[in-house]
Amino acid sequence: MTRSQDLISEAEAHSAHNYHPLPVVVASAEGAWMTDVEGTRYLDMLAGYSALNFGHGNRRLLDAARAQLERVTLTSRAFHHDRFAAFCTALAALCGKDMVLPMNTGAEAVETAVKTARKWGYRVKGVPGGRANIVVAADNFHGRTTTIVSFSTDPEARADFGPYTPGFTIVPYGDLAALDAAVDEDTVAVLLEPIQGEAGVLVPPDGYLRGVRELTAARGVLFMADEIQSGLGRTGATFACEHEGVVPDVYILGKALGGGVVPLSAVVADADVLGVFRPGEHGSTFGGNPLACAVGLEVVDMLRTGEYQQRATELGEHLHRELGLLTGQGALREVRGRGLWAGVDIDPAYGTGRAISEKLLTRRVLVKDTHGSTIRLAPPLVISKEDLDWGLEQLRGVLAAH
Ligand code: PLP
Repeated sequence: MTRSQDLISEAEAHSAHNYHPLPVVVASAEGAWMTDVEGTRYLDMLAGYSALNFGHGNRRLLDAARAQLERVTLTSRAFHHDRFAAFCTALAALCGKDMVLPMNTGAEAVETAVKTARKWGYRVKGVPGGRANIVVAADNFHGRTTTIVSFSTDPEARADFGPYTPGFTIVPYGDLAALDAAVDEDTVAVLLEPIQGEAGVLVPPDGYLRGVRELTAARGVLFMADEIQSGLGRTGATFACEHEGVVPDVYILGKALGGGVVPLSAVVADADVLGVFRPGEHGSTFGGNPLACAVGLEVVDMLRTGEYQQRATELGEHLHRELGLLTGQGALREVRGRGLWAGVDIDPAYGTGRAISEKLLTRRVLVKDTHGSTIRLAPPLVISKEDLDWGLEQLRGVLAAH
């Protein structure tokens, strides 16, 4: 048995089987490359589901983390610390909003947004107690908590985890008429991914996000954009909503906000929305801790110049051009996405997304399937054009080998 096989067997024996990882055991990583315990190098075309937009071992982020590690890592929110104000101010400014509520994971930020919308609904909008409703989209992915899976349409994510949290209405993604019909006087928010990541990088029809913005504004409902996967540079803009010139009421951020170094998520909104919280009503021991704030501040600083967004735009155009050339011939059926992010549908006759991912692994490229025969390409934004081309060459090789 190789060392990798040993470690995989040990993990299988002593960890819950809530994931089905590809059989590679990573020991180190730098930029867009990961090295396994045997010393084999792999091109990372997943980037921690977009948490690693700035690449592995990013110098600026590691320096910020290291400096903070030596000073103070945790105070809890029982006390103030000197990185908190700077991070919240910078992130609020990046979003063009007043206030930030930091948490740790994406799911926690979504839960926070749900609580924000409900409280806002009762205290500001005047919805009668217990009646607040949030409209969400079919095929969404917002996380794994019991409340969030309650409004998932994925049977795998939901089955046997009930009883489910009430207060959500599900409408088809991209369908403005259905959304309009679902909103009523008890609706407090519409919660959407501007591009549905886990569903297979589904970009909604042109004008949809603008329509959602107009509809929610007209009906007195909050528009909450879950930009956890789509935000912070991935699509070639700071936020995917920008592609339609749309500013939601609430940004929900995570993943890349912690630079792939620490878990850091946040809800960002104006004071008339996030101002609804009073002490004791919400929180987290680690939310907004000094280490996370120091890294998050650096992330925000890196996004301020537009350099990463520009890179995602340019490399993304190249990626989509190259994938476009393969589309409709042989195995590759359809490609969707924006910026350095693509959902690639493979003809099921050629294999499942899992099978294609395993074949790419043998060619030293790491990707992950979403559903069925779809794989997702989302390399770190720091990937070189040469490495991206090499990764695409391996994909061509896998598809041609059938
Ligand atoms: N929202 C979206 C759009 C996501 O893509 C994810 C994770 O993939 C989440 C929420 C959940 O984030 P986390 O896994 O950090 O809880």
